[in-house]
Amino acid sequence: ISTNSSTTDNKANLNINDWIPKKETYSKRYYEILEKRKELPVWKQKEDFINMVKKNQVVVLVGETGSGKTTQIPQFVVDAGLISPGKMVGVTQPRRVAAISVAKRVSEEMDFELGQEVGYSIRFEELSSPKTFMKYLTDGMLLRESMGDPTLSRYDVIILDEAHERTLSTDILFGLIKDILKRRKDLKLIVMSATLEAGKFQKYFEGAPLIKVPGRLHPVEIFYTEKAERDYLEAAIRTVVEIHKHEDEGDILVFLTGEEEIEDTCAKIQREVREGRLAPLKCLPLYSTLPIYQQSKIFDSVKERKCIVSTNIAETSLTIDGIVYVVDPGFSKQKTYNPRSRVESLLVAPISKASANQRAGRAGRTRPGKCFRLYTEKAFQEDLIQQTYPEILRSNLASVVLQLLKLGVTDLVHFDFMDPPVPDTLIRALEVLHFLGALDDEGQLTKVGTIMAEFPLDPQLSKMLIESSERSCSNEILTISAMLSAPNVFMRPKDNRLEADASKKNFDHFDGDHLTLLNVYHAFKKNGEDPTWCYENFLNHRALKQADSVRSQLARILTRFKLQLVSGDVNSRQYYQNIKKCLVAGFFMQVAKLEKKNIYFTLGDEQQVIFHPSTGLTRKPEWVIYNEFVLTSENYIRTVTDIKFEWLSEVAPGYIKQKSFPKKTKEAIQRNLKYTK
Ligand code: ADP
Ligand code: MG
Repeated sequence: ISTNSSTTDNKANLNINDWIPKKETYSKRYYEILEKRKELPVWKQKEDFINMVKKNQVVVLVGETGSGKTTQIPQFVVDAGLISPGKMVGVTQPRRVAAISVAKRVSEEMDFELGQEVGYSIRFEELSSPKTFMKYLTDGMLLRESMGDPTLSRYDVIILDEAHERTLSTDILFGLIKDILKRRKDLKLIVMSATLEAGKFQKYFEGAPLIKVPGRLHPVEIFYTEKAERDYLEAAIRTVVEIHKHEDEGDILVFLTGEEEIEDTCAKIQREVREGRLAPLKCLPLYSTLPIYQQSKIFDSVKERKCIVSTNIAETSLTIDGIVYVVDPGFSKQKTYNPRSRVESLLVAPISKASANQRAGRAGRTRPGKCFRLYTEKAFQEDLIQQTYPEILRSNLASVVLQLLKLGVTDLVHFDFMDPPVPDTLIRALEVLHFLGALDDEGQLTKVGTIMAEFPLDPQLSKMLIESSERSCSNEILTISAMLSAPNVFMRPKDNRLEADASKKNFDHFDGDHLTLLNVYHAFKKNGEDPTWCYENFLNHRALKQADSVRSQLARILTRFKLQLVSGDVNSRQYYQNIKKCLVAGFFMQVAKLEKKNIYFTLGDEQQVIFHPSTGLTRKPEWVIYNEFVLTSENYIRTVTDIKFEWLSEVAPGYIKQKSFPKKTKEAIQRNLKYTK
C-alpha cells in the first residue's frame, strides 16, 4: 500500500486490513457484542452510509439516542477504508464522561486494549498511543489541538457528535472546520445529532446530504403532577420509591442537576428502601467527575432493579439499556452569561421541551415505558421553552475569543458562526481580555496573551499563573490553580458530616479558602500521598492525585515559556500577600464587598450574596475575592479569600475605573479610592 495516500481515491482503494491490526482469533466477548451490534438501527444503513461518505466531504447523520451513532459510525468509517496509516478518525463529545465511556466500550467492541488502537483525550487526561487510529475527545480538546495543528492534519475524518447540543466548543469547531475543509479536500466531516435540527446543519455546510437512521422507540406513557412540586428532590425520591413498590420490573432513570444532589438522593433512596424493607434496589450515581470504574457500573447487569440517578449526561450522551421508567423533575444546570454585568454562572434552570422529550424517550428503548414528569402539564406547555439556546449565546466568550485570536482569526465579526453571538458578548470578551492584559489597545494579542492561550484554563487562571512567577509565588499559585481545576477534595459522607467538617477545620487558613487548598495540598505531599491518611482526614485521594497531575502539566507549560517556578519566604509578611495579589490579578472581576452583617454585594453586577456554608473564612472582611457564584436556595459565593481594595487598583486599574459600572459599585470604588489616597 502507498503510505502517502492523501487523495480520496487512494484511500477508497486502500484495503484497511493491510494496516489495521487484525487478529487471528477474536475473544468470545467480541462475537457476543458483535451480535448485539448488528441489531442496532445504524447497521441497516451501513452500506448507504459508507457510499454517502465516500462521495461527499460532509455528511449529516441523525438518529435516535441509542441507535448506535457514537459507537458504530467511527467503526464504519474505518471499515470503509477512510483512514490512512498513521492518521485518525476523531470523534468529539461534549462531555468528558461520554468520551471515556464510549472509548472504553468501542475498544471492547473491537477487541483492543483501551488506549492502544482506540484512545481518548479530555482536558488534563489523554490515553492514546502511536497506534491510535480512533480517538474520542471532548470538543474542547479538539479545539485546543487545532491551535497546535491548524489544519487538523492528524485526522482523515472528523465526527462532530451530539451536534444538537450546540456547545460552545462544537459551535466554534463548525466554523473552523468549515474553513479547513476548503483547504483540505481530503478531510471528511460527519455531523451527528439526536434531534432533528438537521436542516440547519445541512444549510450551514451548503447542502451536505442527510442520512436518517429510523428510530425504534416504544411508546412512552407520560404522567404529570397535579400541582407544582415544592421540593423536586423530595418528590423525586418519593416517585422512585412508588415505582419500585408498585411497577413491574425495569430500571429507573432519574435526572438531577449535580454531584452533591445526586449522591445525597442516592443515599436517601437507599435508606427509604432499607427502612421500608422493600425489595433490593441498586442505586447508582452518574455525573461527570465520577471515577471511571464507578461509571462503568451503570452498564453492568444486576439481579435487582437498578435506579440510576444522573445529570444530563444520560439525556443523549450515554445510553443505558434496560431503562423503563424515567423520573424527570425538569431541571438541569445551565450556563448563563450576562454581558452587561460580565457574570457567567452555572445555574439550576428549567429544561426545554426538546430536553423533556429526549428524557422521556429514554424510557422506551427496549420496551414500552413510563415517564414521570414532576411538574404540571400546564407548566410543560406554557413555561418550558422549545429548545435550549446554543451555549454560544449564553457564555462568557473570553476563553474562546483568546483561542481564536491565537489561531489568527482576528475578524471575529465575520467569523462564520452558525448562530452569531450578540455583539455585546464579543465586545465584553475583548474587554475582559484587555483588562487581563492579553490584548493591547489596538486589540492585538500581547505576549502575555499568547502565553495565556497556551494554558487549558480560563483566562483568569492563566493570568494568575503568569503573574505568579513575577511575584515569586508560582509554586503556590500552581497548586491553587490545580486544586481549583480538579474535583472537590473535601469529602462529607452523610453519616459523618460533623466529623468531616471538624477535620476540614484543621486545614482552614485564616485568610480564606484558596489558601486552605494550598494547606491541604502541602499536607497531602508531606504525608506521602497516602490514601489512608486522606481517608482519615476526609480528603478525596483520587481528586488530590488528579490535582497533582494537573499541577505538573501546568508547571510544564510555565517552564516551556521560561517562567520561573519559585516560592517566597514563608515567614515573610509578603508571602501570603503575594499569593493573594496574584488571585486578584486574575479574578478582579469576581470581588464582593461587605454590605451589612453577613451580606455582601458583588462588584459589577451587584448581586446580594452570602458565603457558601463550606467556607472556612469565619471573619467578614470588607473585600473578598471568590471563585464561584452558586445559586441554590440562596445566592452563595464559594471559595472566598480576604483581599485588600488597594490591590485592585494596583493590579487592575483599568477595570475599576470603568465608567459603565452601576451606581452602587461606582460609589464604593470612589469612596475607597479616596480613602486609599
Ligand atoms: P447513540 O450514539 O446513537 O446514542 P450509542 O452508539 O452510544 O448510540 O449506543 C448504542 C448501543 O450500544 C446502546 O444502546 C447500548 O446498547 C450499547 N452501549 C453503548 N455503550 C455501552 C457500554 N458502555 N456498555 C454496554 N453497552 C453499551
Ligand atoms: Mg451518541
